[in-house]
Amino acid sequence: MEKIVVASGNAGKIREIKTIFQGYEIISMRDAGFNGDPEETGKTFEENAIIKARAVSEALASNALADDSGLCVEALGGAPGVFSARYAGEHGNDAANNAKLLEELKGVPEKDRGAYFESCVALCLKDGRVITAFGRVYGKILFALEGSAGFGYDPLFYSEELKKSFGTATAEEKNSVSHRAKALAALAEKMKSEL
Ligand code: IMP
Repeated sequence: MEKIVVASGNAGKIREIKTIFQGYEIISMRDAGFNGDPEETGKTFEENAIIKARAVSEALASNALADDSGLCVEALGGAPGVFSARYAGEHGNDAANNAKLLEELKGVPEKDRGAYFESCVALCLKDGRVITAFGRVYGKILFALEGSAGFGYDPLFYSEELKKSFGTATAEEKNSVSHRAKALAALAEKMKSEL
């Protein structure tokens, strides 16, 4: 069975990837012996996903898959985008990031609060080829947190498809529409002709 190392330490992401790529042996980068932390210096989700996948692929001489994602808000010209994890300064401080987003959108009416999550997944093959795929989920930014499920901006994101906030959605509901699930499904489709 072809092996793919996932360039992430996030157990939730790895589970999601295993569900979609059932014909492959999926292992985390830590289990595969990669202990680095590649710096995300790219200007786009695609550049960052490739940076992470390539670092792991080259270090282990293996196929490696990475994703990079974030929230893009129309009224903010696409921000926070690639800065989503560190929007309020400190990396991964969800509460501070949500507070900053609400502050930035103060006075913006519902009709102008459109937003989407985007994910890019990159697969770096042992031979150096790179395949990328994208997914988006559209919605709007709420006026206050709704629910506490998920992570990051989930409690502020109202999904058009689910007709509820990601903060009040089950993991199954979110996975059925999420940007990452769509990107992974698109990648699985492309891989049929590449692997
Ligand atoms: P990363 O791609 O895992 O580094 O995610 C970047 C950042 O984007 C996260 O820290 C979150 O702030 C935000 N983000 C990405 N995907 C989601 C999601 O599904 N829900 C909520 N926030 C997300």
